[in-house]
Amino acid sequence: MTALVDTFGRIHNNLRISVTDRCNLRCTYCMPENVTFLDKSALLSFEEMTHFVTVAATLGVNKIRLTGGEPLLRRNLSELVRLIAAVPGITDIGLTTNGLLLANQAEALFDAGLRRLNVSLDTLDAGRFFELSRRDGLPQVLAGLEAAKRAGFGPIKVNAVAIRGFIEHDAVPLAQFCRENGFELRFIEYMPIGADVWERVKVVFAHELLEWLEVGVAPLAPAANYDPRSPAMDFEYADGGRVGIIASVSRPFCRSCNRIRLTAEGKLRNCLFALDEVDVKPLLRMNPTDDAAIRAMLLANVQAKWEGHEINSAKFVKPLRTMHAIGG
Ligand code: SAM
Ligand code: SF4
Repeated sequence: MTALVDTFGRIHNNLRISVTDRCNLRCTYCMPENVTFLDKSALLSFEEMTHFVTVAATLGVNKIRLTGGEPLLRRNLSELVRLIAAVPGITDIGLTTNGLLLANQAEALFDAGLRRLNVSLDTLDAGRFFELSRRDGLPQVLAGLEAAKRAGFGPIKVNAVAIRGFIEHDAVPLAQFCRENGFELRFIEYMPIGADVWERVKVVFAHELLEWLEVGVAPLAPAANYDPRSPAMDFEYADGGRVGIIASVSRPFCRSCNRIRLTAEGKLRNCLFALDEVDVKPLLRMNPTDDAAIRAMLLANVQAKWEGHEINSAKFVKPLRTMHAIGG
């Protein structure tokens, strides 16, 4: 099988699909308050996304993550999960959600074949939740997490962006909450991809988070089965339970990156921070579709991938799209 290998030898088997750019929160680190969202007719249909996945699977893609914007705003998302789960070669489907609409959808998503679930939650304090996301919604997220547990998901990951001025208050309570409820907490270093002015001093680095958790929660040690190629550095408490840190700024995982991305309107991107993208939608909307051309586009896009995101160098250029419009 021809594989999606780039000029640095990285094999790409992981496709992140944004199903919508809309969101029911307005997290300051991700998007501006006022946004013009895409017209619904611009979004890829479930059939078009599934078709793209089918072609990508012939090039070795086996992992899919659905994201957005807020993916649960896309009506009947479980149907998309069912369609993708049936694609030959796809072995792993994940979803990243803010959890607001999860309580009503968790069971249908699980029944459709979804198994990996990441719920974003930066704080357990309703005031800070509002400050960070410009909306209320903490009780709904907590209800969503409970419903997901009842539906059979496990381990559910809880993603928290580590921003100085906020996470100092929230790291320990979040870690305790996750330990008590059997969720796996993952901190994500704050990246320059949102609408806010990003400053390096706002990034809370992995070693600081670890120190706070060791003092405030319990001793941690590197996880026994830690995979150095994985984006997250995983740690274990002596008495069970894990914490991950995705140190995209202080310890970029570009060298082992296996990800490509499809935006909600069908733009193919080879990096979260890519400045160029190619439009697959015309090919997906052709009748009959030209699968050879889609395959060629995928191969060329991966070939053009750069070595790394350069956040830590003077060469870094922030993409024009903010996170919600790319797909996190
Ligand atoms: N709306 C869903 C959610 O919030 O989980 C899915 C999309 S969101 C863009 C995906 C992930 O990106 C979330 O976990 C969010 O916290 C993270 N994210 C957004 N902006 C970020 C930033 N500037 N730095 C680090 N992570 C960010
Ligand atoms: Fe919406 Fe997720 Fe971005 Fe927050 S991080 S604004 S929930 S897309």
